[in-house]
Amino acid sequence: MLRLSWGFKPALGAMSTKQDYYSILGIPRDADESQVKRAYRAMAMKYHPDKNPGDPDAERNFKNASEAYEVLRDPEKRRIYDSYGHEGLDRTGFHGFSNVDDIFSAFGDIFGGFFGGDVFGERFGRGAGPPRGRSLRVAVEIDLREAARGVTRKVEISRRERCGECSGTGEAGGGGRSTCRYCGGRGRVVQNQGWLRVATTCPNCAGRGSVIANPCSKCSGNGLEHKKREISITVPAGVESGQQMRLSGEGDYGENGAPPGDLYVQIHVKEHPLFERHGDDVIFRMPISFTQAALGDEVEVPTIWGKSTLRISEGTQSGSTFRLKGEGMPALQNGRKGDEIVVVIVDVPRKLSARQRELLQELAATEKKNITPQRRRFFETVKDYLKNL
Ligand SMILES: [Zn+2]
Ligand SMILES: [Zn+2]
Repeated sequence: MLRLSWGFKPALGAMSTKQDYYSILGIPRDADESQVKRAYRAMAMKYHPDKNPGDPDAERNFKNASEAYEVLRDPEKRRIYDSYGHEGLDRTGFHGFSNVDDIFSAFGDIFGGFFGGDVFGERFGRGAGPPRGRSLRVAVEIDLREAARGVTRKVEISRRERCGECSGTGEAGGGGRSTCRYCGGRGRVVQNQGWLRVATTCPNCAGRGSVIANPCSKCSGNGLEHKKREISITVPAGVESGQQMRLSGEGDYGENGAPPGDLYVQIHVKEHPLFERHGDDVIFRMPISFTQAALGDEVEVPTIWGKSTLRISEGTQSGSTFRLKGEGMPALQNGRKGDEIVVVIVDVPRKLSARQRELLQELAATEKKNITPQRRRFFETVKDYLKNL
């Protein structure tokens, strides 16, 4: 795959290595404005950095898609790109976004509508001021029986918390804060990039609008330090593999008193050697012997809750199913339990003792004498078929 590097304007010869904007967004060349927006929205949701923390591939895809959107949404830039390609745009002084915050600044209004007030909203619509702490992600693996009952797990995370040295103020000694001279206290600066105006977070004060006269030496003035924390996670009964929980406010603390991010917990339910989950039902495949199937039997079967008794009726066929009511998984919403579905598989013996062989041959002899009407009809149909070949 072609990769393009960001925050770096490629030399003339390297330009052809850039990926086509239409293929980045996966849209045809004649896509209209709403298709472009829709495609970008889907990509931005998928590769959003808050959704994929610490994933450089996702971040690169996010940036690539944003650059493609920046060009294709604008009729003039799109016309230049369609006629002269990446080189044409480069000559106008266009280059993509050097960092993720620039993207949020440039598309902030659209993002607001895109992502609502959820995790994605945290970087937008706040104007100047320190951003909310980052949301963190952790995975928890449990087994099926734990998923059925619910379980509490302790996980260790490393997150940014209030700096112990300066109690989160970011200051060492006196001096207080003074208005940032670079942005005049607004926290944002607008830069002209070619004919593109881009608002970015002020690099001098990181969006705070003010600077600390004597920054704390431990946290360099941001008021935060990394701490290891043990978090207790209560996984609810009925949870399914791949589901995600959000622990509000358990992510990184925000700088200078800004609200903390959240902790997202991804649940993975391990496969069970005996049981297979189908929604709230649990499937259990049980081998039974030919004689159990023919004569019927009462057997003990395992369930995710312990064990239960199953009555196999006389003349049970291989593949038949029996339902054990209420022995399945509880529904996450209301705790109502599904069933355990027992699929019986008739096991044909591979090895026989002399005595068993003798008994089965005796049985076979009776079968020849007492053919059921069903079998007789079947054999007649086969005979007719062969005769008419
Ligand atoms: Zn500033
Ligand atoms: Zn500090």
